[in-house]
Amino acid sequence: MGASKSRLLHRSLRETPPKAIGGDGVWLIAEDGRRILDASGGAAVSCLGHQHPRVLEAITRQASKLAYAHTGFFSSEPAEALAEALVGDEPGGLAHAYLVSGGSEAIEASIKLARQYFVESGQPQRQRFIARRQSYHGNTLGALAAGGNAWRREPYAPLLSAAFSHVTPAFAYHEKRDSESERDFVTRLAAELEAEFQRLGPDTVAAFIAEPVVGATAGCVPAPEGYFRAVREICDRYGALLILDEVMCGMGRTGTRHAWEQEGIAPDIQAIAKGLGGGYQPIGAMLAGGRIIDTVRSGSGAFQHGHTYLAHPLACAAALEVQRVIDDEHLLDRVKDLGRQLERRLTERFGNHRHVGDIRGRGLFQAIELVADRTTRAPFDPALKLHQRIKAAAFEGGLACYPAGGTVDGRSGDHVLLAPPYIATSGDVDTIVERLGHAIDSALKSVGH
Ligand code: PLP
Repeated sequence: MGASKSRLLHRSLRETPPKAIGGDGVWLIAEDGRRILDASGGAAVSCLGHQHPRVLEAITRQASKLAYAHTGFFSSEPAEALAEALVGDEPGGLAHAYLVSGGSEAIEASIKLARQYFVESGQPQRQRFIARRQSYHGNTLGALAAGGNAWRREPYAPLLSAAFSHVTPAFAYHEKRDSESERDFVTRLAAELEAEFQRLGPDTVAAFIAEPVVGATAGCVPAPEGYFRAVREICDRYGALLILDEVMCGMGRTGTRHAWEQEGIAPDIQAIAKGLGGGYQPIGAMLAGGRIIDTVRSGSGAFQHGHTYLAHPLACAAALEVQRVIDDEHLLDRVKDLGRQLERRLTERFGNHRHVGDIRGRGLFQAIELVADRTTRAPFDPALKLHQRIKAAAFEGGLACYPAGGTVDGRSGDHVLLAPPYIATSGDVDTIVERLGHAIDSALKSVGH
């Protein structure tokens, strides 16, 4: 990183990252010619790696026919085909797809559709949303209000809707008491959610929103067995909708197309993005159940929400091809196999590491959590910025991974998230763990451990 002279505003206003000038499968090529193994697909985006020839060809083919037509006038072939591919078989009752340009837009659409559904079904008092602490749902104002990440919200607090409240996440490593069984933990979380419905007034709640496997904020945290069944049951009992945010954990990342398939439940509304288009184009989607859409169709007849680039033909053509490649090449089987290998290798390398407290995740969505003390689970001093040191050391060693940390909702911690492309080889998985091991050792050494 060099001091910023760039006109382009980067996240860091002080430093300009190196330019990426090429890609080749699991590899990214930096401007100095270095090849970096992309072990996190950016932020769990590049599920097919980089420069997949079939996706490039699909984009070129569509671009040569039609790049853009406004959805106020036209539909398009790739948009219709993508919706069919996503919900043609009505997975879990999700029968309709609304195609947007990214995850935050998909979340905004999900929140607004839930609200509009209740307005149009004669329950306008349902205007509250319950979410969880230590979650992330996006960076636009509605999504930020839904997210349970206090430090992200803080500067914008006066602008964020008070319609959202937050309950304890299903984060066993930190939230489960040692005296509790997993089942007791689920029972306690369900009781807390139910108490929140009661506190707000059960008939004022429109929806509960959660990530089935929590992504960047907490580091690949799946819920304990039975948690989502309990949540589903509570939502049904109180007539509220269940919105699942699969922006990061969805579209095959955990080994099934939708992470909720592993929970024995289905949502009423779902947000997807990232792996939907694999980074080849910016695209996201809201998937919604037939009952909801039928209510709005027979009410006002229009979803009162839209953006200029809805169902963008190039984005839809790219996403459609990404999904076809995943199906044709049976990549979800590969995600399951490689996921098991990744978990095994992480356990071999870090299972007895004195500063690794937890290894967790599903499929090719795995994380390790670093702690100062394994027994007490005490975190490293956030001022050390251990996660940033790991990121820098990994990059230096030719590995792009996704460390995160800092203090979230009063709890500090450092974790490293891995989300390699589904096309990775077993050798790539070994290399990822080996390079990560070096990076962690070197970062720990730099802070005297
Ligand atoms: N929801 C989750 C779970 C995410 O991880 C993200 C992005 O990281 C979003 C929503 C927002 O998506 P986007 O950055 O595409 O707006």
